[in-house]
Amino acid sequence: MIKILANDGISNSGINILEKNGYFVSCNHIKQSALIENINKEKYNVLLVRSATKVRKELIDACPKIKIIGRGGVGMDNIDVDYAISKGIKVINTPSASSNSVAELVFAHLFSMVRYLYDSNRQMPLTGDSEFKDLKKNYAKGIELSGKTLGIIGFGRIGQEVAKKAIGLGMKVLAHDKFIKEANIKIDFFNGDNISFKVNTQDIKTVLSKSNFITLHLPKIGEKAIIGAEEIGLMKTGAGIINTSRGGIIDETALMFALDKQKLAYAGLDVYDNEPNPSIHLCMHNAISLTPHIGAATLEAQERIGAELATQIIKHFNNNG
Ligand code: NAD
Repeated sequence: MIKILANDGISNSGINILEKNGYFVSCNHIKQSALIENINKEKYNVLLVRSATKVRKELIDACPKIKIIGRGGVGMDNIDVDYAISKGIKVINTPSASSNSVAELVFAHLFSMVRYLYDSNRQMPLTGDSEFKDLKKNYAKGIELSGKTLGIIGFGRIGQEVAKKAIGLGMKVLAHDKFIKEANIKIDFFNGDNISFKVNTQDIKTVLSKSNFITLHLPKIGEKAIIGAEEIGLMKTGAGIINTSRGGIIDETALMFALDKQKLAYAGLDVYDNEPNPSIHLCMHNAISLTPHIGAATLEAQERIGAELATQIIKHFNNNG
C-alpha cells in the first residue's frame, strides 16, 4: 500500500480521493527534527508539505522510499527541488489552485483602502460611541474603484485573475510583465455567457505612472526590491499599492517614507520582509491595510489544492507502478 504523509495537512477532498483509491494518508504533523526517523519507520512513499515543513537535501538522502514530494500551493522555497529531481523523485505542486483566492484578497485590500475600512475598523471600537461625528468626517473622502486605473505588475496566473475582477468592476487595466506580451482575459458569467478581452502589456514606467493603484504579482528573484524609492517616485501622487506576492518585492522603508510624505495615500500588504516577525512600524502604520499572509488561505483553495495533489499522485503511481 502506498503511504502518504501530509505533514502540514491536506483537505478532506484530497484525503477522500486518495483513500477511495486505496492509499493510506496520515495528517499527523511530525516536527522537523523527528521527520526523517518517522518517514523511514512508517515507510512513507509520498511527503506532502505546505510552507512549514522543510524538505532539504539531508532528508532527501536519508529517506530513499520517498517517490513524490508535493507542495500544496505555489512557492517551492522550502524544498530542494533540483536535488530531489536529480535523485529521481517527482516534485509536484498546485500553481493555479489559489489564484482566485489571492485575486479576491487584492480587492479586499483595494476596497478597504479607498473607504478607509482598515482604519475605521481600528478606531470604531475605541471611540465609535463617543466621537461618531468626527470619525464620520475622517472617512468621508472615500473614492470609488470604478473608472480608476489598476496597474498590474506580473501578468501571470494571479495577475490575470485580478484583471478579470477589475474589468468586472469597471476599472481600466494596465499590465506589465517581463515575459508576457499579451494575454487573452476570458470572463465567465454565471449564466454560461463569457466575454474575452485582449490585454497588451506595457513597460513598467507607463504602468507605474498612469495607474491609480498598483498591485504586484511576480516572484521574488534576488535581493533587490522591484518597487523601491525610484519606482514609487514614478507613481501618481495619492496612489495606492498592494503586495500579495512576496515580502521584499516592495522596499518597506521606501514605502513607509512615501506614505508618511503622502506621496502614496495607502497600501495593502499580505506579505512582509522578515516573516513571521514583520516590522512593527508597518503593522502599526495608519495608512496600511494588513493581512498576515493569507492570500491562498481560503477553504475553496485548500479543497482545490488537496484534490489536485491527490489526482497528480494517483496519476503518477498509475503510470509508474
Ligand atoms: P506566475 O508565475 O503565474 O506569474 C508571475 C508573472 O511574473 C509571470 O508572468 C512572469 O513572467 C512575471 N515576472 C517575473 N519576473 C518579473 C519581473 N521582474 N518583472 C515583471 N514581471 C515578472 O505566478 P502567480 O501564480 O501569478 O503568483 C504570483 C506571486 O504571488 C508569486 O510571488 C507567488 O509566490 C505569490 N503568491 C502569494 C500568495 C499569498 O498567500 N499571498 C499565494 C499564492 C501566490
